[in-house]
Amino acid sequence: MNAPPRLALVLGTNNAAKLREIRAVLADEPVDVISFADAGGSGELPEPGVTFEENASAKALEAAMRTGLLTLADDSGLEVEALDGRPGVLSARYGGPDVDDAERCRLLLAEMDGVPLAMRGAEFVCVLALAVPDGILATWEGRVAGVITEETRGEGGFGYDPIFLYPPAGMTFAEMTAEEKNAVSHRGRAVRELPEHLRDLGLI
Ligand code: IMP
Repeated sequence: MNAPPRLALVLGTNNAAKLREIRAVLADEPVDVISFADAGGSGELPEPGVTFEENASAKALEAAMRTGLLTLADDSGLEVEALDGRPGVLSARYGGPDVDDAERCRLLLAEMDGVPLAMRGAEFVCVLALAVPDGILATWEGRVAGVITEETRGEGGFGYDPIFLYPPAGMTFAEMTAEEKNAVSHRGRAVRELPEHLRDLGLI
């Protein structure tokens, strides 16, 4: 019996942590996830928009045009209630260009200093866009609600994971295993909807 055909899908990101998470969620699907670099892509991908959807679409389209292949791109970030939704689409750039993840967490905790627990709600948002070189095929979103801690906790994950408490688990995302985080995260939720979109589009 022949094995079912597999779909080649480029991931339009230079972020190794995102690539790892998305690959893990799609491990049992008939999809071969190819990194942007392995597909011959190089350089930064644009984030010109003011919404996650605009940025995810711009990255997916640009990566699809540069590689000539079906591409999935993600734009994601952290929306903090007490900060009116900041850092939001600017999450990767919060604090300026020379700041690393650990320093960004420290800056956010400093900005939240004195904010009571009841007002420390936040949501991680992930918008995914699927594109071919001719245009965008679909966009959709995943979200997860949590609470900003008062100090960093845990060593895993990336970005704001050490200060994002997921109350049902009583752990920050950085204290969870990769599997535990993927099971509930904004990105895990959004990526698990990919096969449905691929089927709707007749691609698998
Ligand atoms: P972008 O999607 O490349 O614009 O980057 C999104 C930024 O949001 C990342 O650099 C992180 O700072 C943050 N972020 C997005 N998803 C996560 C996550 O799963 N954990 C922690 N931080 C995240």
